Amino acid sequence: MSTPVIAIHGGAGTITRVSLTAEEEARYHLALAEIVAAGQAVLNAGGSALEAVTEAVRLLEDCPLFNAGHGAVYTSEGKHELDACVMNGADLASGAVACVTQLRNPILAARAVMEKSEHVLLVGPAAEAFAARHGVVTVSPDYFHTEVRHQQWLRVRGQARAMLDHDASSFSFAQQAAEPIDPDHKFGTVGAVALDQFGNLAAATSTGGITNKQAGRVGDSPIIGAGCYANNATVAVSATGTGEAFMRTAACYDIGARMAYAGQSLQEASDAVVFETLPKVGGRGGVIAIDAHGNLALPFNTEGMYRAYGRGELAPVTAIYAESA
Ligand code: ASP
Repeated sequence: MSTPVIAIHGGAGTITRVSLTAEEEARYHLALAEIVAAGQAVLNAGGSALEAVTEAVRLLEDCPLFNAGHGAVYTSEGKHELDACVMNGADLASGAVACVTQLRNPILAARAVMEKSEHVLLVGPAAEAFAARHGVVTVSPDYFHTEVRHQQWLRVRGQARAMLDHDASSFSFAQQAAEPIDPDHKFGTVGAVALDQFGNLAAATSTGGITNKQAGRVGDSPIIGAGCYANNATVAVSATGTGEAFMRTAACYDIGARMAYAGQSLQEASDAVVFETLPKVGGRGGVIAIDAHGNLALPFNTEGMYRAYGRGELAPVTAIYAESA
């Protein structure tokens, strides 16, 4: 029997001590601790890694602090288009949805695609109709509105560019509109990876994408091997960052491939992808990764990444900045 372990992330970027007030920081730590503890409870009760990552990501989607579900960012048309993916390491079963606008929890729709269809990825209104037929709750698009994200979008709309989430200058409640927006500095997305007591791995990722993204743009998060990957033989990974770079490098799959074909450790493989492969194509962000022995690697090439993990019955460990990694 393995000691179950779960790790989660809530996005990476220029998250510096000056960009968050003490109150905001405390709010993030609390949310991360509560959500990882909920995942641990699933695992400690004998639940599967798949159940634990689904539940953790569902809670991250419901939390307005993170760019997924309620709290998602706005597209260039002032709407929300959500992407999510889940993968089971035991049999490589996977399910994903992209460009959905009316599903309260896209991760539950991804799970339905995995378990109730013969496909891996469904998109747009047809994905929503499929999910609704399988009991996934639909909401009015207004449900995804939050004032912080709306203000963030109002500041960049009209500019011919998209902006990654968690921008220090745009996201901080304390510093709204204080500085110009640097499109390279902040990312958002949520994810979870877990090892259950039966030795199974699973991964899940969900996102609102990037602020002011072109309508119809799909990033790495719902793409198997790019933003999400799980295989009991190697690793479970969930990514956050500049999605196009993670897609072009098949970043999450590459971590597993390095372990399988080059004999690299989890840490070596994760570090190589995050600090060498991704920067070569301008990729910024990070991953959370876990292997079948319960080892964890949480590398990121940005100033910070909202992250947390919990082993067995031990208290959750949460971190935001690089120095407390
Ligand atoms: N990777 C996500 C995307 O490109 C964004 C992020 O993680 O911030 O859609």
